[in-house]
Amino acid sequence: MSEKTTNKMEKIVSLCKRRGFIFQSSEIYGGINGFWDYGPYGVKLKRAVEQLWWSEMVEQRSDMEGLDSTVICHPKVWKASGHLDKFGDLMTDCRDCKARHRVDQMEDKTTCSNCGSKNLTPPREFNLMMKTYVGPVSDEDHAAFLRAETCQSIFVDFDLVKITARRKLPFGIAQIGKAFRNEINPRNFIFRSREFSQMEMEFFCSDEESMKWYEYWRQERLRYYHEIIGFKNDEIRIHEHETLAHYAKAALDIEFKFPFGWGELEGIHHRGTWDMSRHQEFSGISQEYFDQESGKKFIPTVVETSVGVDRTVLAILCRSYGEDMAETKKEGMEEDLRIVLRIKPRLAPVQIAVLPLAKKIAEPAEKIYKDIRKFFRAEFDLPGSIGKRYRRQDEIGTPFCLTYDFQSPEDNAVTVRDRDDMTQDRVSVSNLKTYLEEKIYA
Ligand code: ATP
Repeated sequence: MSEKTTNKMEKIVSLCKRRGFIFQSSEIYGGINGFWDYGPYGVKLKRAVEQLWWSEMVEQRSDMEGLDSTVICHPKVWKASGHLDKFGDLMTDCRDCKARHRVDQMEDKTTCSNCGSKNLTPPREFNLMMKTYVGPVSDEDHAAFLRAETCQSIFVDFDLVKITARRKLPFGIAQIGKAFRNEINPRNFIFRSREFSQMEMEFFCSDEESMKWYEYWRQERLRYYHEIIGFKNDEIRIHEHETLAHYAKAALDIEFKFPFGWGELEGIHHRGTWDMSRHQEFSGISQEYFDQESGKKFIPTVVETSVGVDRTVLAILCRSYGEDMAETKKEGMEEDLRIVLRIKPRLAPVQIAVLPLAKKIAEPAEKIYKDIRKFFRAEFDLPGSIGKRYRRQDEIGTPFCLTYDFQSPEDNAVTVRDRDDMTQDRVSVSNLKTYLEEKIYA
C-alpha cells in the first residue's frame, strides 16, 4: 500500500473517531478485532444509507416485499445452505511470529508477510460460521449459528411471504440486517469486519426468465450507484466472475475504488434453484411454485443482489473526504486548510445545522430548528465562534448551515451557507422548507 493511501485511510479513521462516526468496539478494554461501533453521526449516516436502499428497493417498487428475520435460525438451514460443510477459507499460521493468514490473500504463499519467515503450517480449512448454544445446555445438540448472510431466511420464508402477500412470480423479497463471519483477517477498517450489516434482495422467477432478470438487476443496481448515490464512472467497475459456483449461471461483483484498492461492494448472483432445492430436500417440504397460467409446477430460480451497509458507508466516506484551501479567513478562522466531507445532501448525517450568531438570539433560532427538524436531519449548534462551528459542520459533512443573525428578527430571514462552494444566500424563513427541499432532494 502506498504512503498516500495509508495516509488517506488513517485520516478517515481518525476523523471517524474524532467526530463520532465510528469507534472500535469496547475500546476501554483494548478493543476487539473486527468489531466496530457507530457513534452519533455514524449511526445517522448508516441509517440514511439503509433508508435510501429500502426506499429504492422496496417502497418505490410494486414487485417487492420486505422481511426482518432472526439472526439465529434452525441449524439445519446452514446444513442445507452448505455453510456448515463448505463455508470457509484456507488459513495458515506462521510458527515464528504466530501471525495467521488467509491463503488466498497471500502474495507469496510460502512466506509470512508479517516477519518474512517460511516456517508456515500446512494450509487448513477454517469455517467462518460463528457458533453459539441455545438454551441452558452447551452441547452439540444445542449448537446454533449466527447467520453468515441474511438471505437464507428469505429462502426459508419464501412460501409464507408468497401466500400472505398474495404474490405471483416474479417478485422479490428484501431484507436489511446483521451478519457474522469469523473472518481470519479483519482489516481495512469497516471493509472486512466480523459483525456487519447486509442489504440483500432475492428475486424469484422462472428459469426461462432468469437471465433477463439478471441483466435487469445488473443495470438497475448500476443506475442506483450512478444516479442515486452519485458514484462516478471511474469510482466503480464490474468484475465478472470467471469461475462460477456449480449451480450458478452468472455472477458479478460491483467494485468500488477504495484508497487501498478495488474492493467488492455488492455481489449480483444468479443462484439458480440451488437454495430452494436444498431447503426442499432438507426440510422435506415442497418449495415448488404452481404457475396457474401454464399449469406447471417448478422450483423458483433466484437472482440475488447483496450489498454490505458498512462497505457502502466506507465508500461514501472515502469519496467524500476532502481537504481544501478555503477562504476560511473570511469566516473568522486563521488556518486556510479545511477538512470537509462532501457527502450528498440526502445522505448527510446532519442535513442542516442552525447556528445563532449569539446566545441572546438563540431562542428564535431554536424555534426555526425545531420546525426544520420535522423534515430534515437537523442540529442546533450554539457554542463557539461562527468560524469554528462552520469547520466542525464541514468535517461532519453538513451541506447547509443556517445562520440566524442580528438582522434576522427584523427581516425574518436567515443566511444559508453552502458547504461546497461556501457561498451564502439570504432566505426568508417562510420559504426555507421549499428552498432546502429543492437543494437536498433535487
Ligand atoms: P469477500 O470476497 O470480500 O469476502 P464475499 O464475496 O464473501 O466478500 P458475499 O458473501 O457476496 O461477500 O456478501 C455480500 C456482501 O456483503 C459483500 O459484497 C460485502 O459488501 C458484504 N460483506 C461480506 N463480508 C463482509 C465482511 N466481512 N465485512 C463487511 N462486509 C462484508
